[in-house]
Amino acid sequence: MSKPLPKGTPNQDRMQRKKDATKARVKKKKITKSIYRNKSDDNIENTLWRWFSLFIRLRDSTHNGYGNCITCNKTIYYKDGHAGHYLSRRFKNIKYDERNVSLQCVRCNSFENGRQDVYKDNIDAKFGKGTAQELEKIKNVLVKIDRNYIIARLTVYKIKVNELKKGITERF
Ligand SMILES: [Zn+2]
Repeated sequence: MSKPLPKGTPNQDRMQRKKDATKARVKKKKITKSIYRNKSDDNIENTLWRWFSLFIRLRDSTHNGYGNCITCNKTIYYKDGHAGHYLSRRFKNIKYDERNVSLQCVRCNSFENGRQDVYKDNIDAKFGKGTAQELEKIKNVLVKIDRNYIIARLTVYKIKVNELKKGITERF
């Protein structure tokens, strides 16, 4: 004769855990919604850009916070550099494409028009041959940048930035 299962069988535990997880997810969703509820689309997109830009600059820096400009190779501190686009941020489909944006010094990005000629070769060196061409090809694909898109990306880049920041020794 088999013994009756004690209270709180593994399956019940599992179901309870699932319930708790769902509750936590719902709660999280509500919080996420409330953070942005009163913000305009432009406002949250600006916030997304700030996080994305920070992600790019940290990604391209080493643990001491210094990296090299994608186009002139000058060493810069991540907070002093820009996240410069290869193809203009006007092209919505690749505005937040990680291959299209890299750490760049202010001089190259703002005063030398991004130095697209050099950028092109260095993108291929960094992400693989044909990347620049691929970006050219997809730049005009229409993409709907709505609130959901922005908030989803925002959430992703906040997490990525926080992960990267853990590895960086801040300069004082
Ligand atoms: Zn530069």
